[in-house]
Amino acid sequence: MENIIVVNGNELSFEQGETILEVASRAGIEIPTLCHLKGTTPTGTCRVCVVEVEGKGELVTACSTKAAWTKFQMEVQADDDADELCPAWGDCRLQELAYQYQVTGDRPVGERWDPVPMETVNPFIIRDFSRCIRCGRCVKACNEVQVNKAITCLEDSNGRITKIVAGNDKPLVESDCVFCGECVQACPVGALVEKDSRYKWRPREVKRVRTTCSYCGVGCQIELHVKDGRVVKVTGVDVPPNNGSLCVKGRFGYAFIGSEERLTKPLIKEQDGSFREATWDEAIKLVAERLYGIKEAVGPDSIGVFTSARMTNEENYLAHKFTRAVLKTNNIDHCARL
Ligand code: SF4
Ligand code: SF4
Ligand code: SF4
Repeated sequence: MENIIVVNGNELSFEQGETILEVASRAGIEIPTLCHLKGTTPTGTCRVCVVEVEGKGELVTACSTKAAWTKFQMEVQADDDADELCPAWGDCRLQELAYQYQVTGDRPVGERWDPVPMETVNPFIIRDFSRCIRCGRCVKACNEVQVNKAITCLEDSNGRITKIVAGNDKPLVESDCVFCGECVQACPVGALVEKDSRYKWRPREVKRVRTTCSYCGVGCQIELHVKDGRVVKVTGVDVPPNNGSLCVKGRFGYAFIGSEERLTKPLIKEQDGSFREATWDEAIKLVAERLYGIKEAVGPDSIGVFTSARMTNEENYLAHKFTRAVLKTNNIDHCARL
């Protein structure tokens, strides 16, 4: 029989080069994974996806074993390191699998983690390797998805990951890290977390709102995690153009939304250079009168309009329409061309 594997009694066809994991998931058969990261080369380090293959003397990892004519049964191996004080509690892949497969840890609380000091000096990311399960997803995310190559895996003589290091084992802030946060999003446990939101909210407390990042024209799709009307975290959505990835601005640049320093009312500049608060009606009337006056006195081409990458496409479109159709000038430009 060619190009057929039998998974738990189900005959499934496969394409050359497909892994057991890919064939099974295409057929809707779930094989649990931890270290597997979509779009990157498999490592098989966590061994959560091990399956029994007929005729093979040992268990194989479904994520890195190519499908071949064979039969196998799934087995699950997982450890239970999840605890209620973990910052990822409720949003942890390890905890999810432990619940789903009813895995119980056999180590007493307090002996579960290697005591490693947390790295808190970075601007956006806390690294807590006491919680690291050494799956290597962060390194795949950094090196193969974002291609920043800021972190690597140290391995022992058996090829097992012993530590994740940045540069020559430095804090991220002293390495080539650009703080895109891809590693944080890929971490399946609470070993890498966003500094600003650690312990400030629980995943179950937030409402997720899908929107478009407005920092630049790429238009990355993002999800805002909102608690009590405040954005507490941003994650990428796995659709084009970004397929889940974000840059530092899209992922971490949201503090301005709830900033106390943000202008909420228009300010009118007085003759002496001071500003005073005004109503929108007053401010818009004043701007309209001034623009009209300049246009009438010295012509529309004496006016220029600059728009911004911080605005949405729709707002930029409106600005262009206003400039050309209302002001009657083609003097419209955008900060991206500076
Ligand atoms: S934040 Fe980005 S660049 Fe820095 S280690 Fe993580 S993935 Fe690499
Ligand atoms: S930091 Fe997270 S993603 Fe990286 S190896 Fe540890 S558990 Fe895996
Ligand atoms: S996340 Fe970064 S690249 Fe994507 S739209 Fe926002 S600013 Fe642009």
